[in-house]
Amino acid sequence: MTQQSKSFLVKADIKAHDLEHKRKVAFNIDRYNESVIKGKHQYVNLDLARKKAKNIKWKVMEHLDQYLIQFESNFTKNGGKLIWAETAEEAQQAILEICREKKAQLVVKSKSMVTEEIGLNEFLEEHDIESVETDLGEYIQQLDGEPPYHIVTPAMHKSKEDVARLFTEKLGAPPDMTPKEVTKMARENLRAMYTKAEIGITGGNFLLADVGGVCVTENEGNARLSTAFPPTMISVVGIEKLLPSIYDLYIFWPLLATYGTGQQLTVYNSIFTGPRKEDETDGPTEMYLILLDNGRTNLLQKSVRESMYCIRCGSCLNACPVYKNIGGHAYGTTYSGPIGSVITPYLTDFKEQVHLSYASSLCGNCTEVCPVKINIHEMLLENRQRAVEQELPTAAERIGWSTWELGMLHRRLLNLGNAPMKNKVVQFLFKDTWSANRGELDFAPTTFNKWWRQERGKN
Ligand code: SF4
Repeated sequence: MTQQSKSFLVKADIKAHDLEHKRKVAFNIDRYNESVIKGKHQYVNLDLARKKAKNIKWKVMEHLDQYLIQFESNFTKNGGKLIWAETAEEAQQAILEICREKKAQLVVKSKSMVTEEIGLNEFLEEHDIESVETDLGEYIQQLDGEPPYHIVTPAMHKSKEDVARLFTEKLGAPPDMTPKEVTKMARENLRAMYTKAEIGITGGNFLLADVGGVCVTENEGNARLSTAFPPTMISVVGIEKLLPSIYDLYIFWPLLATYGTGQQLTVYNSIFTGPRKEDETDGPTEMYLILLDNGRTNLLQKSVRESMYCIRCGSCLNACPVYKNIGGHAYGTTYSGPIGSVITPYLTDFKEQVHLSYASSLCGNCTEVCPVKINIHEMLLENRQRAVEQELPTAAERIGWSTWELGMLHRRLLNLGNAPMKNKVVQFLFKDTWSANRGELDFAPTTFNKWWRQERGKN
């Protein structure tokens, strides 16, 4: 068992028994579920929209090389500067070079999972550059020194009282502030940052090949402020975010909003197609885009390439019984929940992270709720199969399954001995694993064959 796997089990065990944590997460997910029902009402044929979205993503992934080149050509034509980054380190270095060139000491960041993936805040801090999160949830998490808990709602595990306490502790705010007061205080603190920062950093929800545009979707307006004031803008986006055309947004914007937060459309949807033009009054004078691979082409080669269709709506996390019990931090990865368990082994280290593919009941609820119909639970199985092919499961597990297979294929072996004897053996073998949190395994007093013969004898 790897260190990562042991750490996951310990954290998951603690959270699964933390009733207060469960209460807060359940409260927030219940509210999400109520909103999603309302969001879906905008569709006459939701299934058709989901199928169309999946087809578009399929087309992109089958021709990713062509769309990337088309995107590059259109983006640079409008004055954007594109940097290809194969790894997280290359992306970090590229951003650092820009920061040094601009003599930047403060950057403002809008919400972006990909910058979490490359550890950007920590990296910039190591180089004496302050990086301030401007999304309220991310701001709360940064104040608390915690990574995001969820890919859409970073502070989902905190109650309003927790947030008020945090503001008192870290910012000297009066105790027991209401959510409105908390938001006002965050807003005032952040407003000062936008005008001081030399660089604004964003992620990107979609990249549009035909217009060379970066789409940023948000509810607070902080991404617009982060890109309107600082003279330099940097977007960091994974290569899988491509869409062929601006016209595809009519499907993807409402789907992302509905499945992400239950809205019909997210409040602010911006498309950046390069720096400010001569006749424009605002926006950055320079725009860089870091296009990140960081293991994505590795995903593309594998049978789980469909996971590249993900639009990071977070719906599968909210639907997952495992996520709801152990929460986002137990995973110890940037992308948590079912989709995180599928992709993380390929984005990082397969051997170190494949244990996450076992953190699933395989109920299929994740697949059911995915707006782009990714077959998530099947992919978790594929990862498990790949782990077996690479002989990664422990010797005890392999022996256990071989014994089970032998018994299932040879009925006579299974029927050997009596039930109390077999119970003793099985209960001893599984006392620290299966039976640690479940009832004991018990054999039926009579074997199936014996029972069958008895029943037939009656007729
Ligand atoms: S896999 Fe599907 S449900 Fe999960 S975050 Fe991605 S798009 Fe949303």
